[in-house]
Amino acid sequence: MLKYGIEFTDGGVLMASVTFEHLSKTYPNGFVSVDDVNLTIEDGEFVVFHGPSGCGKSTILRMIGGLEDITSGRIYLGNDLLNDILPRDRRLAMAFQNYTLYRHMNVYDNMALGLRLRDLPRTVIDSRVKSAAGFFGITDILTKKIRTISDAERQRVALGRAVVCQPKVLLVDEDFARQDDDRRREMLDDIIRINRDLKITVLYVTNNYDEAVSLNARVIFMKDGRITGDRKFGSAGSSE
Ligand code: ADP
Repeated sequence: MLKYGIEFTDGGVLMASVTFEHLSKTYPNGFVSVDDVNLTIEDGEFVVFHGPSGCGKSTILRMIGGLEDITSGRIYLGNDLLNDILPRDRRLAMAFQNYTLYRHMNVYDNMALGLRLRDLPRTVIDSRVKSAAGFFGITDILTKKIRTISDAERQRVALGRAVVCQPKVLLVDEDFARQDDDRRREMLDDIIRINRDLKITVLYVTNNYDEAVSLNARVIFMKDGRITGDRKFGSAGSSE
């Protein structure tokens, strides 16, 4: 079973630290979006990147995910240098705004798709999809088509699809739950549970200060592509 990673039911997935060394991003037009960022995120941490719109938060997430090239510097996931690893081989999952669920397919098939592409055995896929469905409370809609379920359910299916691949790190951009406050709160509750119960390191980006400091998380403050603060909020394990 270990060949396919540890099942949720066996106590969670593997974790990893994320380290940035002199990480920078300059866009082709010369704009420096991320400017010499150094940071270590510990195994299993919940870290919020906060700062005004345009300060480089999403660029950092996109470089980790491999959606954007790294101009200079290094990103490590555990001991692995991500610069050298193809995006599809990184043990990461991304929950961004443009998550594509296939509307004509049912929930189960949407959640299983990434695992089928990896040629995992049917029994492993089935067990992972059902574990994740149980975790997110969507077991009773597994056979429903995406187009027939609610926005809240779609959001959970997208998160379910992300965690079935047993990522070490989950990247969540605030755009993921832009629809309304209720959806957003549900999404935040879900990613808090993903971090706490599945032991997946979570990196979350938001430009909302109240939200950033309300999550009992470590908050990295950014401005103009640089880190301007690093503070742990909340009661448990506060380092203030
Ligand atoms: P944030 O997530 O903090 O709102 P982003 O990381 O999306 O900010 O963008 C940081 C800055 O980089 C912004 O000023 C944005 O306009 C700029 N930027 C993003 N993508 C590009 C691009 N492809 N070319 C040039 N500038 C870009």
